[in-house]
Amino acid sequence: MTRTSILASAIALALAACGPSTTPPAEAPAETPPPVTETAPAPAAPPAAPIAGGKPAVVADCATTIESNDAMQYSADAIAVPSSCTSFTINLTHAGTLAANVMGHNLVVALASDMAPIASDGAGAGPEFVKPGDARVIAHTRMIGGGESSSLTFDVAKLREGGPYGFFCSFPGHLGLMKGSIQVQ
Ligand code: ZN
Repeated sequence: MTRTSILASAIALALAACGPSTTPPAEAPAETPPPVTETAPAPAAPPAAPIAGGKPAVVADCATTIESNDAMQYSADAIAVPSSCTSFTINLTHAGTLAANVMGHNLVVALASDMAPIASDGAGAGPEFVKPGDARVIAHTRMIGGGESSSLTFDVAKLREGGPYGFFCSFPGHLGLMKGSIQVQ
């Protein structure tokens, strides 16, 4: 050991000895208990809403019925197509009284990302408001008014790849309110 290191050791020891007197007390101050607040138990959170569709359509025998009305609404915004179905039918009814040229509704099935372009291109294609021969349309009903109905049937295989798929009304201005999801489950 060199003289320098001995000195260093001595200083270190001295510092260590001084340590306790220069450091704050090791004991931490007593913790204040958290304030006790009397609150009613929080109500149970509602189950998380599905990504798309809060009103599922009732499906039976590979078919469903969607009702529409004078308030520009569909009765459901989610259709689950059973994977056991090879074809699927959607019946559209109109429970209102307004005519098809005023409050017309149809139901168009397409890729969700194609819905707005189909509606846009169909805006000038009245009274059906679906551009004839639009290949993006998987299926669509007629445009109906109050008291009328129309149905469509499509091959379920068309919904088995890609997606997500949706359904909507192509009457000008109705897409914002009248749309939903459709998927094979
Ligand atoms: Zn409509």
